Amino acid sequence: MTQLNNKYDVVVIGGGHAGCEAAAAAARVGASTLLVTHRIDSVGEMSCNPAIGGLGKGHLVREIDALDGLMGRAIDRAGIQFRILNRSKGPAVRGPRAQADRALYRQAIQDLLGEMENLNILGEAVDDLILDQGRIAGVRTEKGREIAAAAVILTTGTFLRGLIHLGEETTPGGRVGDAPALGLSKTLLRFGFALGRLKTGTPPRLDKRTIDFSGLDVQPGDNPPEPFSSLTDHITTPQIPCHITTTTPETHDLIRANLDRAPIYSGQIQSKGPRYCPSIEDKVVRFADREHHQIFLEPEGLDDPTIYPNGISTSLPRDVQEGLLKTIPGLERVEMFRPGYAIEYDYVDPRELSHSLETRRIPGLFLAGQINGTTGYEEAGAQGLVAGINAALKVSNDGLGPDSAFILDRAESYTGVMIDDLVTKGVSEPYRMFTSRAEYRLHLRADNADQRLTEKGSAIGCVGPIRAEAHRIRASHLADARALLETLSASPKVLASYGIHVAGDGVRRTATRLLANGDIGLDRLKGLWPELSKINPKVTAQVETDCRYAVYLDRQNADVAAFRRDEALGIPADLDYGAIGSLSNEVREKLERVRPETLGHASRIPGITPAALTALLGHVRRLKATGRSASAASA
Ligand code: FAD
Repeated sequence: MTQLNNKYDVVVIGGGHAGCEAAAAAARVGASTLLVTHRIDSVGEMSCNPAIGGLGKGHLVREIDALDGLMGRAIDRAGIQFRILNRSKGPAVRGPRAQADRALYRQAIQDLLGEMENLNILGEAVDDLILDQGRIAGVRTEKGREIAAAAVILTTGTFLRGLIHLGEETTPGGRVGDAPALGLSKTLLRFGFALGRLKTGTPPRLDKRTIDFSGLDVQPGDNPPEPFSSLTDHITTPQIPCHITTTTPETHDLIRANLDRAPIYSGQIQSKGPRYCPSIEDKVVRFADREHHQIFLEPEGLDDPTIYPNGISTSLPRDVQEGLLKTIPGLERVEMFRPGYAIEYDYVDPRELSHSLETRRIPGLFLAGQINGTTGYEEAGAQGLVAGINAALKVSNDGLGPDSAFILDRAESYTGVMIDDLVTKGVSEPYRMFTSRAEYRLHLRADNADQRLTEKGSAIGCVGPIRAEAHRIRASHLADARALLETLSASPKVLASYGIHVAGDGVRRTATRLLANGDIGLDRLKGLWPELSKINPKVTAQVETDCRYAVYLDRQNADVAAFRRDEALGIPADLDYGAIGSLSNEVREKLERVRPETLGHASRIPGITPAALTALLGHVRRLKATGRSASAASA
């Protein structure tokens, strides 16, 4: 780290998951970067569940890792239980997940940031943004310190006008124990940003020493644990199991009897929460016929007696929380360290952003993380990474135009899917990643994130030399393996003599083609072709998957090519949609609201008809053919 000064290329506000990835990415790309956050000791804090990854989210972590981000390496140091979710299903929808030791995770993030050149951290609250002729020029802290910056990334999470609800009590706060950010909300309103309000919640924290685990189901992790990062050889942190219990009909009766004291039902909370992560009171009302809901008792650390009861997030009053816990098997005598609560906070309508995550309203101002209406560490981290790269590129390339931005598209990453969803459709509830959001799932697997992204990251300087070299070696192992599989072939007769039965048509089958049969793996072919033992074990699983899905992948390639054709047709940022006579007022307003960057982007805006797209395509082609600017054409 360098000495603090008062002028930086990039200032990042917020030391959560978006902010840490943003600051690290900007610094890797070469920008002098300052991370300003309330408290340096809470950098990398997990505000809610101590876990990283899961379905869809695990893919995001692997993508962050492929671009040399922090999250994968941090969880590999801090993980105390690793599991691949959906292991029995296809590789496209498997999700790596790990339970974290909360303190080790925070420490790992702080250590990784501490190793970075070009990066400084300041523990102060930012109160306002400074503009110069409509462009971002810096930030002002609560202490009145002014710091100049060519680009600023706002990653304030749940802190903007955060309001904590615990039963009938409400307290301003960004999360428990932290003050809300009030000044920045006012700043964003003053600049005309569209703000909305969302909510999220967290369960009570329990004292492990007061739980009776004896009758509960044990959930062990995978053995051996599979790391997230391609730079981690194996996990060295001790592994511990979780336990599973459930709510009971008595729990549900107690909740029903107290619904009038639940802020989400009493009218005290108006904003929407994450649909796929509902509070226990919400589950009891919405799934009234269910007698039990599962609860995972997750340890918060190796030397920490705190248990996180995953599945019973609640904002019921403290006395009701204490009562309901006692109706749950194993928790009859439990002591609560602190009650659960809900939090409402401001977010910015992400349709204010371009795909680089820069706001269109204020050049040089970028937003990433929960402030854009998402929920989850992984979603925040992936956005932070993209915003950090783009802020650094903007500073070094300013004036070069939009082509210098680092944009990930829907066909190459879940990160691209998420950002495209956000900036195109906006949000009406907290957005979280699912594999079902992606069109090209067979391409976007957790196991091939490095092949999709690392070279692209290297090209703009955000991948360091250690990862670049590791990637080069892995890519060469993969190429060798693929070439070898293509050179080995055998006739049906020879195959049959090794117990591999195919149609007796006399046609030789290559090893690649044999692996397309889901029942045949590399190990089975080694009897026939011992040279297959030369394939590096680190790429075996991927080679098998690629061969198994080769036919489908080829088909998907055609879809990807069509998608990319539409993405290639850029639409001028200042296009006058009023000049396209055939557009209805409703369609024109939608296009003006989102200002799509490409024809493909326009096609994904809800309510944009094929006829409107044809008119738009014709207009943009005419503009390009005549070489007239968008504004001149409309004059
Ligand atoms: P955060 O991690 O919140 O980080 C924001 C950072 O900004 C903090 O370091 C803060 O100190 C700093 N900051 C804020 N304002 C300022 C300022 N003015 N000046 C300087 N620094 C500032 N996610 C889920 O996926 N599932 C859940 O069930 C879930 N439940 C949650 C429950 C609660 C109570 C909370 C608070 C969050 C929950 N989350 C949940 C969300 C998860 O914590 C966030 O999605 C994730 O932390 C977002 O990362 P972020 O970087 O955007 O923001």
